Amino acid sequence: MSAAITVNGERLWHSLTVMSRFGAIAHDGVNRLALSEEDRQARDCLKQWALEAGCRVRIDPMGNMFMRREGTRPELPAVVTGSHLDSQPNGGRFDGAYGVLAGLEAIRALNDAQIQTEHAIELINWTNEEGARFAPAMIASGVFAGVFDLAYGHSRQDQDGVSIQQALRRIGYRGEYPMGGLAIHAAFELHIEQGPILEAEDRLIGIVTAAQGQRWFEATIVGFSAHAGTTPMDKRRNALLGFARMVNAVNDIGLAFMPDGRATVGMAQIAPNSRNVVPGRVFFSVEFRHPDEAVLEQMEQRLRQAIAGINDGVLTAAVNRIFAYPPVTFDRGCIAGVRQAVAALGYSHREMVSGAGHDACYLSAVAPTSLIFIPCVDGVSHNEAENIYPHWATAGANVLLNALLEKAGRIAAPTVAD
Ligand SMILES: [Zn+2]
Repeated sequence: MSAAITVNGERLWHSLTVMSRFGAIAHDGVNRLALSEEDRQARDCLKQWALEAGCRVRIDPMGNMFMRREGTRPELPAVVTGSHLDSQPNGGRFDGAYGVLAGLEAIRALNDAQIQTEHAIELINWTNEEGARFAPAMIASGVFAGVFDLAYGHSRQDQDGVSIQQALRRIGYRGEYPMGGLAIHAAFELHIEQGPILEAEDRLIGIVTAAQGQRWFEATIVGFSAHAGTTPMDKRRNALLGFARMVNAVNDIGLAFMPDGRATVGMAQIAPNSRNVVPGRVFFSVEFRHPDEAVLEQMEQRLRQAIAGINDGVLTAAVNRIFAYPPVTFDRGCIAGVRQAVAALGYSHREMVSGAGHDACYLSAVAPTSLIFIPCVDGVSHNEAENIYPHWATAGANVLLNALLEKAGRIAAPTVAD
């Protein structure tokens, strides 16, 4: 195979720096909520850069931006890459923006090297990935993939009652490019890991093979609220004791399915929550994550057994599943493309499972897709302190460029006589 080509790391870093000024807040953070004025400025900047790189820019009715570098055979399905420019209210500079700008840098590098491809390469900026302004997260890639319909997507409202439809019109980003109309040959999303594994193991690239499925539950344990002074210990029906046993049980379920299993009790309401009353009722959440649906089912069964164990006549307990998000297995061909690029570049790497949701997860329902990670400092993300180093940024963009090029089909350059 031909030698790997590389991006201009300094130019990529400069683009990241410029982009981070839109919605900049203290401590190097970014507050760039989806479809806000700050997001409009970031989009306008990206659009300008894409036009300067020779791309055709189109917007769909959810405000997703498609920036196309044409191939020699325009009838072929496109090879795409993308992520998101929106952020959390106290977000970092790299979550999402890194994937978008690394994709732009890949296009610029192809231009510099005067490399043509058979398939077009299309860069996408997905609207409202974070879900911070409009719930749910990843709504626009979800509409693209047919998980949600357009009317539902447009109807989502922020806290002030502004819908996505209204917000899109307000900033001039409700486009006419057919929703979900893009034929895709292969798709890659490059993103910071948002976890500590790559940095701790001193590896440059995460080859992401799957994304965790999730199951969310709500549970209630009922005992009897009683006077903390007059009720003897052996006569109490203390719901909080049952809850404590459940917290342990949920943690044990997570430990039983290491390394990929995650089990969390993150929310609890104690009633009456008074210092001199034996708690009569506890309401709490349980969340499981794992990349294998069969294991998620086992985790749920163990949870139900544990709840049944609390039902001992003194306490009553019940659990309800309120949300299920199936695991995603990424495309073998795309993963192989990433592996090949990593090998050609000689980078340290590991295969891994994504613990977080990404636009690539919905996209994988309608197109061969995979996800690539680079480390982030101390695993910190969704925080102003989020950080990466320039050489990590460059390495990830190099992998993305070579994976895109392999899928897009490089046209052999004419031999130059010397
Ligand atoms: Zn992100």
